[in-house]
Amino acid sequence: MLKVKALTKSFHNHKILRDISFELKMGTITALLGPSGSGKSTLLRCLSRLEVSDRGSIVFQGNSLTDLSSSSIGMVFQGFHLFPHMTVLENLVHAPLQLKQMTKKNAERFAVALLKKFDLNGKVHHFPNQLSGGQKQRVAIARALIVNPPILLFDEPTSALDPEMVNEIAALIYNLKSPDRLIIIATHELRLAKLIVDQILFLDRGALVENVSKATFFKTPKAKRARQFIKNLMST
Ligand code: ADP
Ligand code: MG
Repeated sequence: MLKVKALTKSFHNHKILRDISFELKMGTITALLGPSGSGKSTLLRCLSRLEVSDRGSIVFQGNSLTDLSSSSIGMVFQGFHLFPHMTVLENLVHAPLQLKQMTKKNAERFAVALLKKFDLNGKVHHFPNQLSGGQKQRVAIARALIVNPPILLFDEPTSALDPEMVNEIAALIYNLKSPDRLIIIATHELRLAKLIVDQILFLDRGALVENVSKATFFKTPKAKRARQFIKNLMST
């Protein structure tokens, strides 16, 4: 269980996250929806400890986020953020070697197996700029997965890809669903949310205005901003 309580974050006296509280169960996939600028990336960055919140608490399986090891949280960034000067293999083994979690030999063995699973066996020694968008995305996911994190965060996983790849990414993320993992996806893509998520969190100007099951969200969203959001996206 992930418990977020009264999380608040400001940048330059500007409140970006306002008193956010929610709980998510293991084994679930959650979509984090909301207009651009509503605070989705900031919330993911707080969850992945790239930002420190001003107030509030984040507790995972009874432990404060600050006490967890770095291998507890995997993040797939918008635009992937692969290390451009490293090969695909080097990108993958970087974290487990930094964390001294695996020997080089083991890390490489794991990495090669993961790359094979993601249909990237021919790309092990390529550099990121030699890959297509979809391949970069899969490398980024493999890189996040190599330490086997129980919390897996995706920031706009389809935004840099061809719209036709949404189903493929949806299937890929859905396959990562497991009873001992919790997945959160910040996304603009309603199709992705409709296909694979269990729960929806909707942010509006830094406030969590909706925390409901997928069925409820699409059938009877209670927040006005959420209704408008669905309507706007449906019409495009
Ligand atoms: P979203 O991902 O929903 O589009 P973000 O979390 O990226 O929203 O941004 C929410 C707000 O916080 C925006 O107004 C953005 O300009 C601001 N913001 C995000 N990161 C920073 C930062 N490091 N410094 C100052 N302002 C920031
Ligand atoms: Mg964002």
